[in-house]
Amino acid sequence: MSIWIDIAVQAPAHSQVGGLLTYRSPVPVLPGQLVRVPFGQREVLGVVWAIRDSAPDGMPASQVRDVLGVLEGLPPLDASWRQLVQFSAQYYQRALGEVALSALPPQLRDLTSEQLARRLKKQTERTVYTTPGPALSPEQITVLDQMAHGPGPFLLFGSTGSGKTEVYLQAVEHMLAADPQAQALLMVPEINLTPQLEERVQARFGTEAVVSMHSGMTPAQRLKAWLAAHAGHARIVLGTRMAIFASMPHLKLIVVDEEHDPSYKQQEGARYSARDLAVYRGRLQNAPVLLASATPSLESWYLSRPATEDDPGGRYQRLLMPSRIGTGLLPKVRRVDMNKQPRRAVLSTQLVAAIQERVERGEQCMLLLNRRGYAPVLHCADCGWKSECKHCSAFRVFHKIDRTLRCHHCGLTERVPRACPECGNADIAPIGRGTEQLEEHLGELLAHVLRPDGTPVRIARIDADSTRLKGALESQLAQVHSGEVDVLVGTQMIAKGHDFRRITLVAAVNPDTALFSSDFRAPERLFALLMQAAGRAGRDAAQSATSEMWVQTFHPTHALFEALKKHDYPAFAASELAERTAADLPPISHQALLRADARTQEAAQALLNAARETLEAQLSADPDTADLVLQVSVYPAVPMSMQRVADVERAQMLLESTNRMALQKMLWHLHGVLHQVRSQPEHKGVIRWLVDVDPQAI
Ligand code: ADP
Ligand code: ZN
Ligand code: ZN
Repeated sequence: MSIWIDIAVQAPAHSQVGGLLTYRSPVPVLPGQLVRVPFGQREVLGVVWAIRDSAPDGMPASQVRDVLGVLEGLPPLDASWRQLVQFSAQYYQRALGEVALSALPPQLRDLTSEQLARRLKKQTERTVYTTPGPALSPEQITVLDQMAHGPGPFLLFGSTGSGKTEVYLQAVEHMLAADPQAQALLMVPEINLTPQLEERVQARFGTEAVVSMHSGMTPAQRLKAWLAAHAGHARIVLGTRMAIFASMPHLKLIVVDEEHDPSYKQQEGARYSARDLAVYRGRLQNAPVLLASATPSLESWYLSRPATEDDPGGRYQRLLMPSRIGTGLLPKVRRVDMNKQPRRAVLSTQLVAAIQERVERGEQCMLLLNRRGYAPVLHCADCGWKSECKHCSAFRVFHKIDRTLRCHHCGLTERVPRACPECGNADIAPIGRGTEQLEEHLGELLAHVLRPDGTPVRIARIDADSTRLKGALESQLAQVHSGEVDVLVGTQMIAKGHDFRRITLVAAVNPDTALFSSDFRAPERLFALLMQAAGRAGRDAAQSATSEMWVQTFHPTHALFEALKKHDYPAFAASELAERTAADLPPISHQALLRADARTQEAAQALLNAARETLEAQLSADPDTADLVLQVSVYPAVPMSMQRVADVERAQMLLESTNRMALQKMLWHLHGVLHQVRSQPEHKGVIRWLVDVDPQAI
């Protein structure tokens, strides 16, 4: 006897949304089991999705191939895991097999049953213990009590240093005490930036009980961690966005730390939001979900709005921890009006004086500039030549260290020309500033400054360039922690999460560009970044009274900086939400982007516009779908803001609706239309298309 089964396999992108392949198995199998199946000429890993009574309609039995083998010894992936994958594939418009397979550790694909059996044998029960934490603050007690009495999802809005992490740890502790099998998922934006959290969790519950999951791990490490979570041995999974797909049969708690962080959104393949999936998964597995941030995303803030007379409120419960632990105060925010500084000054005289004073007292300072390299562009004043990239609509950045011009988009790197390539003028000059130049400039300005022990000031830089080598970031951070650095210069990389104890001054050198960006989320990002950065200062209570956050700006009275000065996220959020509401932007509405890449901009836009016209014609013609056309706005195709990358022209089309369901239906129809339109000969020049649901940048 043989049975028919539907199996999820990794098929090429877009080939069939929701598509499963039917096979036959000579032996009984269960949904969620992993199997090896023939696929074309190859043998691939598949996940048993459903057992069926007969072959699919119209499929001759002789064409159905046999499953080659079952991966023995591995418990099936449970129904909730499969449901999570199915929902993600559907919601983010990707093939089920693609999402399912990319949610599994890659090494699983290559292992034979024997190899897997050997790995499984090494798995053992892991002990978990609990070291008691500190006595909780009244705010922490209230929040944990609210969590114990409500279903959630919860949004914990707590200042930096208010003890949010301690709340996560205690919530995990309660969960472990209440249920001998329970598992917790702790999600963080970027694990490499917060090694301290890993240490803290391990110190609390034992190294055996905790596994990490992030892309920096080797395939073998990832498999080991995955198997431990899947078997229920790992009680705590600490991971980045990919961890949302970890198989955790006894999941009882999900925490999303820094829930506003854009890195929770995957930027390729299925462009999922791990934060949003956390909320979905929590509901699915009946596990409370705690989102937390000092600067929540406007989405979560809006979803946790309290009820009023004419608004039933959001479906999240908002929890508050406004005070810093101990006597720690938030740093004083100082704005420097750059209009009053000498023209082209990079650092104001006041800021330089303040840095000097701190260094002489033995304190640390941190300067943020969101641009790496020496200068963003080289320029010839004679003929107007600029260091454009020939493959991208971007300038190549001047890196003085190795005298190169580098495109940060396609990677094109060349030696800096001796003279202008257009007119031969030998005097080509950098315009604007990057971190490399700031480091050099600071070195000159502080050359005479001495530390309390009479030794010269030490300046260091941390950005994507300085940390390219493996382990470089860790060692550079360690230097800051151990006090070997007095002034740290860097990109936003250094603003996140680090618990630097001796930093008493943080400065944003040039944050203005984000105020006038075409991306409506830019101010939200900037505010979060500056609040985060401010949170780096004065973490040691003894120094918090004198700690400061400096902002150099040409717009000192801008509402964003006013709110920052008062550390008033709610005020900032209220004014942003008012603007978003007036313009019908997220979180009031929901968006999706359809993107096309082609050799020419015309070809890219033509596909999008053809899809749009066909879609609207088809939907309007059918009374069942005519409503959708009214509910969802579909805008004409436009070039992306980064229009050309590596010689590929990129265009996008925005879909927007206040009704999420309607938008989802529209995308479903659009998918069919795209396959249809794409196969027409006039769209041959299109390289690819993709859909981004709830895009983070438009
Ligand atoms: P957050 O995650 O909100 O930035 P943390 O949980 O890291 O805050 O807490 C900030 C600091 O205060 C940490 O050093 C932590 O160990 C300490 N801390 C947290 N809660 C307490 C408490 N109840 N009693 C004493 N110290 C605490
Ligand atoms: Zn020239
Ligand atoms: Zn380029």
